[in-house]
Amino acid sequence: MATELVEQDVSPEESEPTKTERLSLEAVAADDSLPIWEAFLPYHMMWKNVDWVVFAWMLSMHIGFLIAPFFFTWEAGLVALVTHFLCSSVGICIGFHRYLAHRSFKLSRPAELFVMFWATMAGQGSPLRWAATHRLHHQRSDKEGDPHSPKDGKLWSHITWLFLRQPDQAIDRLYKKYIPDLLKDPVMQFVEKTYGFILFASAPVYFAAGYAYGGLPQAIAFMLWGVCFRMVVSYHSTWCVNSATHLWGYVSYKTTDTSKNNWWVALLTYGEGWHNNHHAHPRLARAGHRWWEIDISFWVIRLMEYTGQATHVVDKIPALGAKSTEDEL
Ligand SMILES: [Zn+2]
Ligand SMILES: [Zn+2]
Repeated sequence: MATELVEQDVSPEESEPTKTERLSLEAVAADDSLPIWEAFLPYHMMWKNVDWVVFAWMLSMHIGFLIAPFFFTWEAGLVALVTHFLCSSVGICIGFHRYLAHRSFKLSRPAELFVMFWATMAGQGSPLRWAATHRLHHQRSDKEGDPHSPKDGKLWSHITWLFLRQPDQAIDRLYKKYIPDLLKDPVMQFVEKTYGFILFASAPVYFAAGYAYGGLPQAIAFMLWGVCFRMVVSYHSTWCVNSATHLWGYVSYKTTDTSKNNWWVALLTYGEGWHNNHHAHPRLARAGHRWWEIDISFWVIRLMEYTGQATHVVDKIPALGAKSTEDEL
């Protein structure tokens, strides 16, 4: 009798789990009849599906970040500042995001390798995975299957989603669906195979540079500030694009998601905070559409254009209220 009463209290949606709610992550990954975004649904997050490599990496960087103030030197602070700009703006914003994920312009080979190098140093993982996951975000933005929507929780969209591992089969399907163009590119295949090595090899370089400059104290300071502190600040800024700019700010264009333009995220991320503009017109190389929407990364793209390193820059700002081109990735 008690069981009957409990069952009566449960709504039909809760009492009838969908097909995928009964499937494991591996089963979803292996089932071609299911859309691959089902492998990103938050219900998969449980102990056995935690990506411990990502977790350990993030934990170590955050420990380094907390220790760094005790080893501060002005030189190390400057190294962190310059590297932060190179990684966050040149690497992630221009390289991974506007160039790779959205193909908003073309780059000369040296410029392409330059932006990919700094994106690698940002420690945000594989370029192909970054671009594929980001295209999925645009396609499913704030709907079921968006890898990092705040509708699934603010903390989920900011960081927790990163700890959900993906089986090889899921990655394979994700790549084939979302980045077939990049899979064919030999340069991107090269970057994909070498980014881990380059990232790990960079830490001793910071240490050696600091040691050569000022002995052991500077070596430790260069490592902690140039790698850990800089990287953690950059992480949280980037992650705010996934969390804060889908929560707080103003809207210039009507889109099908909750994206907003947020000035403080734009400052922290060299222009990425104008996220409503970006969701409305994702192929545009510029995210700031009004004169006061400062977009430092676009200034860098312009500079690359003037010096002949960037061409075919998609930069025509649509009239406010113009039909969104959000279907174009
Ligand atoms: Zn978004
Ligand atoms: Zn985007």
